[in-house]
Amino acid sequence: MTSTVQETCPRWCERDHATDDPPESRFHEQVLADFPAVVGHRPDLADPPVGLAEDVVVRRVRYFHAPQTWLVIEEAEDAARHLVLSLDAAAPLMSALQLVTRDGG
Ligand SMILES: [Zn+2]
Repeated sequence: MTSTVQETCPRWCERDHATDDPPESRFHEQVLADFPAVVGHRPDLADPPVGLAEDVVVRRVRYFHAPQTWLVIEEAEDAARHLVLSLDAAAPLMSALQLVTRDGG
């Protein structure tokens, strides 16, 4: 059965929507940043597989008829793992990134 559920996009949405989008595709999205990063495990910190860096993307996502907007950090292609942050987590994350950036490491 095809549904035609739609809603008005928030001002930041840059995703194309179709009336026959499947339920899992009914979300608003904005790409905020993309950069290479190692998607791995903690032991990788001792000997990072830098040559295996993946393209990572930061997206703002909100599903149709859902009240919550999320910050999603995931591999750009075929993401199997996603870091999903609430907007409440954005401020402490920004503080941490600013501290590391200011200190140079
Ligand atoms: Zn939208």
